[in-house]
Amino acid sequence: MIAVPLHTRHERKFEQNRFVYPVLSRRSEGISIGVNLNPDKVCNFDCIYCQVDRTSQSETQFVETAALLEELGSVLDLCASGAIFETEKFRATPPQFRRLNDIAFSGDGEPTTFKNFDEIVAACAQLKRERGLDGVKMVLITNASMFHRPHVQRGTAILDQNNGEIWAKLEAGTEEYFQLVDRTPIPFRQILDNITAAAKLRPLVIQALFMRVAGEPPPAAELDAFCDRLNEIKAAEGQLKLIQVYTVARKPTESYVTPLSDTEVDAIVALVRQRTGLAAKAFYGMA
Ligand code: SF4
Repeated sequence: MIAVPLHTRHERKFEQNRFVYPVLSRRSEGISIGVNLNPDKVCNFDCIYCQVDRTSQSETQFVETAALLEELGSVLDLCASGAIFETEKFRATPPQFRRLNDIAFSGDGEPTTFKNFDEIVAACAQLKRERGLDGVKMVLITNASMFHRPHVQRGTAILDQNNGEIWAKLEAGTEEYFQLVDRTPIPFRQILDNITAAAKLRPLVIQALFMRVAGEPPPAAELDAFCDRLNEIKAAEGQLKLIQVYTVARKPTESYVTPLSDTEVDAIVALVRQRTGLAAKAFYGMA
């Protein structure tokens, strides 16, 4: 049997859970506990590389807050005690990854579209605090489309007080490429404005996924424009602490999407560093 690298196992369920799923994350270099606020798999973007399987309908359509918090509490306890590494799924975890890094709001859609986003973030933070897990981060993985909404601003403020981090995706420099890749009625300008406003309040991590589209890597002019947008955020006093450059690692929505080579990812990282002076880090595909 060929072993599947642990970081490709991003199943949404752990044992019988419906909302909370621990994964071994290469980006987190440890266990990341995913909290799925979009069990119905609905998203306000329709990214061509999305790895959420929408060919089948989920059995769970709505977030059940009490069940979600119970699941999170028990997974936090499993991680804190180390018992999680005795389970079949995590038994092979290398020693250096045997640590709980974060609780990540991500899942099968855009987490900030959940109407009680602020309340659920507060309740999850409380569970973390009660267990004395102050060093464990709370990560919001987001497309930045809803940062201007009050319930999201309340939620991100709670994250700020609880070792939070925002990973906002930005993977285009122009409206045209943004629409080609992210396919949404939301204008690119709104996303840029939202990222800039949020980055003025705290340092953000940017997640930039680049890929081949019908065999074509991102055009050089697009990558230049991407760096221009990063520089504009900086010039507006937005703080960007890291640009994560990565590529497709799991089966994408559209079959014409394929990963970049490691060398191509490295070249984008070098370009970002050189053009913006920002910290940038490569994450490679599986090809
Ligand atoms: S924003 Fe995320 S969940 Fe939504 S379509 Fe894009 S990759 Fe998928």
